Amino acid sequence: MSNIVFFNIPAHGHTNPTIEVVRELVSRGHQVWYYSYQNMREKIESAGAAFISCDDYDTEQKLSPKDAVRIGKDLAFSTKILVDTTLALDEKVCKEMKELNPHCIVADSMALWGKAVALKLGIPFVSSTTTFAFNQHSAKIIKQGMGDFLRMLFAMPKTTKQINRLKNQGYPINNILDIIGNDANTHTIVYTSPDFQPCSETFSEHYAFVGPSIRPSSEQIEKKKSPLIYLSMGTVNNDQMPFYKTCISTLANTEYQVIMSVGHLVSMDAFGTLPENISVYPHVDQIAVLEKADIFVSHCGMNSVSESLYFSVPLIMLPQTSEQKGVAQRVLQLGAGLKLRSLNPNSLLHAIYEIQNNPIYYQNASKISEGFRNCSGAKGAADKILSLCHQ
Ligand code: UDP
Repeated sequence: MSNIVFFNIPAHGHTNPTIEVVRELVSRGHQVWYYSYQNMREKIESAGAAFISCDDYDTEQKLSPKDAVRIGKDLAFSTKILVDTTLALDEKVCKEMKELNPHCIVADSMALWGKAVALKLGIPFVSSTTTFAFNQHSAKIIKQGMGDFLRMLFAMPKTTKQINRLKNQGYPINNILDIIGNDANTHTIVYTSPDFQPCSETFSEHYAFVGPSIRPSSEQIEKKKSPLIYLSMGTVNNDQMPFYKTCISTLANTEYQVIMSVGHLVSMDAFGTLPENISVYPHVDQIAVLEKADIFVSHCGMNSVSESLYFSVPLIMLPQTSEQKGVAQRVLQLGAGLKLRSLNPNSLLHAIYEIQNNPIYYQNASKISEGFRNCSGAKGAADKILSLCHQ
């Protein structure tokens, strides 16, 4: 039996793909500890891992709204927050790692404290990457990177102070890239297929492209009309009432069945009486909906896109962040969806009509689905982790 420790951030998009991997490891008789946050506790424990809360140590959750928006945009500030969390967790995690004596640490690529503690204590490490793997080649294809890279370069002097704080606490880290980047020698699980990952052939043999990790659905959705259109802006930036209202007024009393997941930040009362063909929920079993859906109007989070294409559902895409724009770019390249510049009734109706009447989108989505289904999945991810445990 191996002891395996996971670290993650409090985000569904980063946690969901790991859940089936945990379930697989536990079913093979291994012990899994999972450092995360209360809002993820239920799904982590349901997969069979022992949950350990990091809530009291997290700096990001305690930020003012003004500072919270700087995360991800201001590298020097983001580094400080990550270092603060790493150092806040240092004593607890180092002590507990000595007790648990894990054979391997698996950390989300944004839970830098997981990688940092693995380096500090010399524990084998696997990075869990829920977005595309990033190198100079893939950056070009998804049209990302140069701006981000330059921002990083200019912020470097400011991050040195933070890196020194880690060094003083015994972390063998020389620069920010040691923890935020995965080089060719970092064992990395990427939850997509080699075909969907841009330039997968340029990554080293340490990278395992295991495909999306799709959890089983837990309910049956009734399909009353065809096409069934599903709309969601994900679980993070979903406070988007004007978007929801435009979709409702555009799709009211049409021949479409519409299911919308709107999150917990908007008031359900604000929707008033809904048209007969539209249902709105704070949260849905997205896998169950996608099993039946014909079109997904999405913000293009990596998980939503992967889940959609797994069920051969083409996308109408409204990406918001640069990461989501990269994912949308890849879907466009492979011809499995359409991107809207902005949402207005005409553009939405036109995109639905185009997808419905042009089988190429379904054919391309099915091709990507086939690639996903041929991947090794949660079993492959578990094999990769265990291969390190046994080294
Ligand atoms: N999700 C869900 N029900 C919902 C909305 C989202 O189960 O009503 C899940 C979805 O299946 C996906 C995750 O939440 O696994 C969202 O991750 P994604 O990367 O798409 O976007 P994020 O929420 O991180 O922006």
